[in-house]
Amino acid sequence: MKTILTGLRVNSDLHIGHYLGVLTHMAKLSNKYSTDGYEVNFFIPDLHSIISEVEGDMAANTLRNVKYYLAAGLQPNEHVHFYRQSRVPAHSELCWILNCIATMGELSRMTQFKEKGKGKTTVNVGIFDYPVLMAADILLYDAYYVPVGEDQFQHLELTRDLATRFNHRFGKDILTVPAQTKEQVQFMEISNGVRIRDLLNPEKKMSKSTPAENSKIMLSDTPELARKKIMSATTDSFAKVRYDMFNQPGISNLLQIEALATNTPLDDVIAKWNGETRYGELKKKVAESVAVMLDNFQKKLANITDEEVNSLFERGEVYANQVANRKLEEVQEAFGLR
Ligand code: ATP
Ligand code: MG
Repeated sequence: MKTILTGLRVNSDLHIGHYLGVLTHMAKLSNKYSTDGYEVNFFIPDLHSIISEVEGDMAANTLRNVKYYLAAGLQPNEHVHFYRQSRVPAHSELCWILNCIATMGELSRMTQFKEKGKGKTTVNVGIFDYPVLMAADILLYDAYYVPVGEDQFQHLELTRDLATRFNHRFGKDILTVPAQTKEQVQFMEISNGVRIRDLLNPEKKMSKSTPAENSKIMLSDTPELARKKIMSATTDSFAKVRYDMFNQPGISNLLQIEALATNTPLDDVIAKWNGETRYGELKKKVAESVAVMLDNFQKKLANITDEEVNSLFERGEVYANQVANRKLEEVQEAFGLR
């Protein structure tokens, strides 16, 4: 029985890039694999959240993110498990134990650490050590598939290294080494994964930390506001619609959004608009599609209750503690701690 594991931080609200690139994609994969012999773990990495600032209230953000998954089409069943990381103490415990086999050298080489620490006079130890916590998050559940963005590939490699080192040290396969990045990417169909671009600077991806409000459409934006943001999106001066992310990223991004928002194959959308000279027409259509998409999403969201999410957590956290404690105990035994 293979386990798929994914986490989504709750530090701030999410944008349509998250929705179209992650939430709907994970919902589809979960619906497919949880009914096909896999366990699918969705956890809220709240201990990862506190290494940096949290906008708003963590408990409220947590409920909101789970509702986002559900409103994006995720259908929970007994093989889908939602849990909060901090409610499963084994994560912190295994993290400490793995700290004792990880080295300063390998953690210092992590690109994310270098980037997050850049230009800062002080950096908390959590930022340095969170890849080890991430390894614990994965290894406690024998997770084999861990869909992550490119920025986390290096941490996945670290997880593989730590698991291999641990097993080698004790001469038995206690920890499951997750799939190699290439296999992950294939299995999770990440190569088809989309990168929604920044509306004002379409050569970059849409990002929640970009300050300009018109660069991103948040999932809490009203459909009307979303419409306006699309209408003011940066395009180009070619005056001819073509799908070419390199030379015409703004227009290509709009085509991409249109395809995903209306659930139409991208090729069909491209065929329909190719050669169009009036960018305004395309924008109007995309603005309408995004407004409809957000409206539908927000209506679904409004119908999901806190109780529903809390009962998912209740069930998920019993399951997670059982699985994680069993693995932790094997690790503790290996080290002579039990
Ligand atoms: P930040 O600016 O703080 O890095 P972000 O908007 O890039 O925030 P992350 O929290 O870094 O969001 O990413 C969470 C997940 O969402 C990752 O798996 C990432 O690959 C995915 N993601 C982020 N932005 C986009 C986007 N524009 N299109 C598709 N997927 C995205
Ligand atoms: Mg990011």
